[in-house]
Amino acid sequence: MKIDKNKLDNYDWYKTSIENTLKKFETSKNGLSKKETVERLDNFGKNKLPSPAQKHPVLKFLSHYNNVLIYVLFAAAIVTALLGHWIDTIIILAVVVINGLISYIQEGKAEKALDAVKNMLSTTARIKREGEIREITAEEVVIGDIIYLKPGDKVPADLRLIESKNLSINEASLTGESVPASKKTEIFKQELALGDRKNMAYSSTIVTSGEGIGVVVATGKDTEIGRINQMISSVEKLKTPLIQQVDRFGKQLTLFILSLGFLVLLIGRFLRGTPFDELFLSVVGIAVAAIPEGLPAVITITLAIGVQRMAARNAIIRKLPAVETLGSVSIISSDKTGTLTEGEMTVKTVVTADKDYTISGNGYDPSGKLINKEKEVDLSKESVLKELLKNASLNNDARLVQKENNWIIEGSPTEGALKTLVAKSSYDNKTLAKNNPRLDSIPFNSDKKYMATLNQGDNNNIIYLKGAPEVVLDMCGEQLTEAGSKKLDKDYWGKRQDELASNGYRLLALAYKKIDKNTKELSLDHIQSEMIFLGIIGVMDPPRKEAIEAVKECQEANIKVKMITGDHATTASAIAAQLGIENPSEVITGNEINNLDDIELKEVIEKTYVFARVSPEHKLRLVTAMQELGYITAMTGDGVNDAPALKKSDIGVAMGINGTEATKEAAEMVLADDNFASIINAVEEGRTVYDNLKKALLFMLPTNGGEALVIMAAVLFGFSLPITPVQILWINMITAVTLALTLAFEPMEEDAMKRPPRDTGESLTPFSLLLRIGFVSVILTATTLGIYTWAISNDLALPLARSLAVNMLVYGEIFYLFNSRYMTKSSLNLKGFKATPWVWKAVGAVVVLQFMFVYFTPIQTIFDVAPLNLSHWLIIIGVNCLLFLVVELEKYISRNFY
Ligand code: ATP
Repeated sequence: MKIDKNKLDNYDWYKTSIENTLKKFETSKNGLSKKETVERLDNFGKNKLPSPAQKHPVLKFLSHYNNVLIYVLFAAAIVTALLGHWIDTIIILAVVVINGLISYIQEGKAEKALDAVKNMLSTTARIKREGEIREITAEEVVIGDIIYLKPGDKVPADLRLIESKNLSINEASLTGESVPASKKTEIFKQELALGDRKNMAYSSTIVTSGEGIGVVVATGKDTEIGRINQMISSVEKLKTPLIQQVDRFGKQLTLFILSLGFLVLLIGRFLRGTPFDELFLSVVGIAVAAIPEGLPAVITITLAIGVQRMAARNAIIRKLPAVETLGSVSIISSDKTGTLTEGEMTVKTVVTADKDYTISGNGYDPSGKLINKEKEVDLSKESVLKELLKNASLNNDARLVQKENNWIIEGSPTEGALKTLVAKSSYDNKTLAKNNPRLDSIPFNSDKKYMATLNQGDNNNIIYLKGAPEVVLDMCGEQLTEAGSKKLDKDYWGKRQDELASNGYRLLALAYKKIDKNTKELSLDHIQSEMIFLGIIGVMDPPRKEAIEAVKECQEANIKVKMITGDHATTASAIAAQLGIENPSEVITGNEINNLDDIELKEVIEKTYVFARVSPEHKLRLVTAMQELGYITAMTGDGVNDAPALKKSDIGVAMGINGTEATKEAAEMVLADDNFASIINAVEEGRTVYDNLKKALLFMLPTNGGEALVIMAAVLFGFSLPITPVQILWINMITAVTLALTLAFEPMEEDAMKRPPRDTGESLTPFSLLLRIGFVSVILTATTLGIYTWAISNDLALPLARSLAVNMLVYGEIFYLFNSRYMTKSSLNLKGFKATPWVWKAVGAVVVLQFMFVYFTPIQTIFDVAPLNLSHWLIIIGVNCLLFLVVELEKYISRNFY
């Protein structure tokens, strides 16, 4: 029967009992049936927050005109209109409109690209349906679903809580309150504000600690956050520090141009006695010439392309400024497990007090065997191993599932490996769970480094404990042997631990204790002492091959790689050595960090590369110290408590697969594949984006410089303009949107990862770049003026002389584009000539457009130019070949001498 949602909308669920809530939603603690969920999804839609209100397209379009550079062009249009030069007015206005339109379209494209990248970040939810807990994407959650919450989760919908175990939720995104609210399940009678409804959990808030279960009472736009229509990860503004820097630069340039114009006006009038009318036109010419109209669009698109390229290489950018910062990263602090290592774990060895077992098989496929002394074990004869396997299976939240012949796990890989271990024995995970249901649990976290459960037994209940060996050993008094429990032999276990860890195994120790049947809740007191030690499990988690390469690449790029892991010091050291991390034998542990003051810590950071048994608050201290030392840090994290360290670091990196939502929200970047190598890919792209932006400036500014100089020279020397303002606009438009844009698609320079990280204080236009810009401006001026004066002195008509000047400049830019593809490296080779398909397409487009400009009568008439003959073209091409060579010579000198 279809549930009537309208009737449900009027309820205050915090004033409704749990039973009643479940009844109203026709659900139970075991969750909905599959059929029901499909129907509800069809009837009520996906659990998606509405998109934030968008600016009206017209307003968005108009915003592109709110720019000083454009104001100057408007002023130029007015001046030309007052002087009666209507064609100029119309063309200037047309250019302004076209330019705005192009920026608008480009920005739309860039926003779409960012949106697509954001959509790659889907949130998951742990739900119970048909009595089984599983993970689904949050969008599929429907009203009446039963949701399980654990630390780090983002609450997927509005919930009435039906169970809470020390559950605390940070509701800042909804209420603005940053202190986490503790949650209960009791019903309230009185009217309460959102923040006081302790028995509710709201969509988009983050679980900070404890565990809880809730029934979904509202999804999508019906949730509280949906109602205030405030999407958390709404599209960011496309303004990054760099774009702001360029905006500022644009303003300064405008001021400079205006003053220059004024100066030219004065000189022209008083020194040369040129008529005002003509002078004004020249000043307008200088203004339109020097303004790089297309620059903002080129920069925006370059950044957006960078974001797309990073996403294609599994690095999802959440905050746009990160694209720029990535190029300056000088330390990458990475987790070990799953990031530097494969993260697909296999139990390879089990050590009990009496025996060592080896386990065959790889990955999560449960088709291996448990072997002792070369014989497959018979579990009925193994009293210690039996208890250990029960612990491994029951004290475990992972699920082992077979999908299309592939065995995969849901949940923590470490626990998944344990499920596979049990499945390789004659025990069955599902039967064990049925026979010994869980009564209570203390979840794992990276601070405590253990997890415990209370399970129902036959005559008594059983506590199972697993965790880092040194932590578990401290809680035990005895060890289980084939002959019963005996006093714990700590020395023996210490030795075995070191031996396993030095082989790179990740270690887990297991212990248990029987407790009377009336104990239904588990507290710290129960596990703190007198546990009985069962043994140690050695889990294989080999380094990722790509990570070994990536570490090497970082070293070449002068980026320090530090392993910051929660794992055992010896294990960390062994894996660090395999990865090629520097100085792997010198490991500092969390405990040792506690004993260091801030100055000592900084000394340690400079020479230590492996930090082990580190908890999240150590990470925060480490990142702070690194920043104080002047490093730009990228830091990875996955657990809920890692969020502060990620926020603090310059680039917080969260894990897309095994990371908590809390870290994803705090991060600048999310790795779709949890892979260390993807961070380096992002750094490569970051360096490339920055290079390409510089190349775009390097390319565009001399064009403007050249044009302005040509006009200035004309005024100062008192001859008519070699290029008219409208012709200049034509040049700027066609070159900015075609030639300059191709630089956004330039691939990484070969040496991009051989250079040290960029200094964040470094200017976008350092002296060497300014020198090139000035130099090329001068040669473009020389060639353009050269051909113009040649034409005039040979008595060619003015339209023809101007046609020659315009083409000389445009073709100069085509050739200069090939120079600009490499900042300092030579372009004089096959690779430089082949360029990218974009370059050749753009060159093709410009050639066609220039052809039309010269030979197509309507355009000819508008721009007042005359057709060229073959010898003219030969001169233009020949001179510009020379220009190309001269710029290459300058590059050669700058490569070798400064
Ligand atoms: P990294 O910080 O590099 O990801 P890690 O995963 O080893 O390393 P933690 O998750 O903090 O760091 O784990 C620390 C230790 O806690 C592990 O070495 C292991 O002994 C133990 N451990 C890990 N997962 C569990 C778990 N699910 N239950 C119990 N103990 C665990």
